[in-house]
Amino acid sequence: MSVDFDVIVIGAGPGGEAAVSRLAEGGLRVALVERELIGGECAYWACIPSKTLLRPPEARAEAAGAAGLERPDLDWSDLREYRDYMIRHLDDSAQVEGYREQGVTVVKGVARLVGRNPWRIEVNGQRLSAEHIVVATGSDALRPPIDGLDQVEVWTNREATTLREIPQRAVMVGGSAVGVELGQFLARMGTRVTIVQRGPRLLDREEPRLSELVAERLGKDGVDLRLGRQATAAHRDGDHTVVELDDGTRVDTDVIILGTGRRPRTDDLGLDTVGVETDDRGALGVDEYCRATEDGLWALGDVTGIAMFTHVALYQARVVADTILGRSRRTDYTAVPRVVFAQPEIAAVGLTAAQARDQDLCLATSELDIAASLARPWTYETDPLGTLGLLADRDRRLLVGAWAVAPLAGEWIHQAALAIRAQIPIDTLLDGIAQFPTYSEAYLKAIERLGL
Ligand SMILES: Cc1cc2nc3c(=O)[nH]c(=O)nc-3n(C[C@H](O)[C@H](O)[C@H](O)COP(=O)(O)OP(=O)(O)OC[C@H]3O[C@@H](n4cnc5c(N)ncnc54)[C@H](O)[C@@H]3O)c2cc1C
Repeated sequence: MSVDFDVIVIGAGPGGEAAVSRLAEGGLRVALVERELIGGECAYWACIPSKTLLRPPEARAEAAGAAGLERPDLDWSDLREYRDYMIRHLDDSAQVEGYREQGVTVVKGVARLVGRNPWRIEVNGQRLSAEHIVVATGSDALRPPIDGLDQVEVWTNREATTLREIPQRAVMVGGSAVGVELGQFLARMGTRVTIVQRGPRLLDREEPRLSELVAERLGKDGVDLRLGRQATAAHRDGDHTVVELDDGTRVDTDVIILGTGRRPRTDDLGLDTVGVETDDRGALGVDEYCRATEDGLWALGDVTGIAMFTHVALYQARVVADTILGRSRRTDYTAVPRVVFAQPEIAAVGLTAAQARDQDLCLATSELDIAASLARPWTYETDPLGTLGLLADRDRRLLVGAWAVAPLAGEWIHQAALAIRAQIPIDTLLDGIAQFPTYSEAYLKAIERLGL
């Protein structure tokens, strides 16, 4: 039976876009269906605006820490204008036009699967068929069960990243990457910030030592950390909101900001109609080729529930497109970098010590105080900070994990990412020559301290 397209991609976030470009370059007939804006969550309400907003307060703090420089002024209206430019003023017409010029059919509307063999979707009352469907519908912010949340001012990442005015007070619920980044940003913009984290530490999937250093840093920024606490209820009181915590304390705020995780967007996608199930988080499960079924349904990005990062969505998009184009590839999630763009940057890759122990690895670990060991931190700032932690498998003499809290760590963590992914032997790493004076020199010293 003839079909309208070779591939229909549902969702134009970074993952969907990357798949579409590669498939179209490969000569296939491709349609892209998007219910909102080409670019998805990442381009308008997540990565791009948050990193744009974080940079000026970071540069200001860096200037204050550099010898002979004054702390520069920060103009919120200029920063807001640049943020608006970076999120294209929520206008994707140039992107739509770009795809049309490339020969991609762009359909604006909500797609729903309506049939299988061949695959069929419905969008704006129109039916389209294809040999392959790629689901790249992303994820939504989770709303935690807090009594009264519907009656008070609540921001998800959407309102937080497109904010027009800086609130005087904010309660961040959740101490993950979003909570740490936005919490530090607002604190540096003058907001009185409280972070309420249910677990006993921030960034609780990372090394406990990393969490400790981050908590210290946020403390210095004046953030009030309520760790091991839950927000249970919220209500309006005059012109502000009162948040009640499970220890009986209350925090007055102007806004509650949610950073409590994401749920894959699969509701209303019609998966049940075509006999495909999701897991209990709503994620669309995939195999190592990102196939949700063996007959042409694929998924990539946040909707798969696997490491919800843009770089993972882009990686999966390459795997999906290449496999559809006949250059079959398997996914391998070893050494996905995890960066929190706070100041200093927080970066990690590979296993944590707890994960390594679960795999029965015989571990060697080291921690390096970068400022006490290298010249670069002192040429960089007058009151330097920086820590690098490494984990190695003693038996195989390979790095298996790394973490750092230090300037530019999000850039130089990639050396560890490559070493872990390519399984570069410790002896080769020890024979490396790093440029003097750089933060990268920390690796040699930290590897020597592993005592292997
Ligand atoms: C505040 C914040 C900051 C972040 N910062 C970073 C960062 O610095 N680095 C990083 O790697 N990751 C970051 N992330 C995570 C990153 O945003 C996501 O991992 C990434 O956007 C996932 O891309 P995606 O293509 O899977 O989906 P999305 O970007 O969510 O895009 C999915 C698209 O699908 C569309 N869609 C959904 N359902 C339908 C339908 N039925 N029909 C048609 N279209 C549909 C949506 O409208 C959307 O445009 C951040 C997240 C948040 C919340």
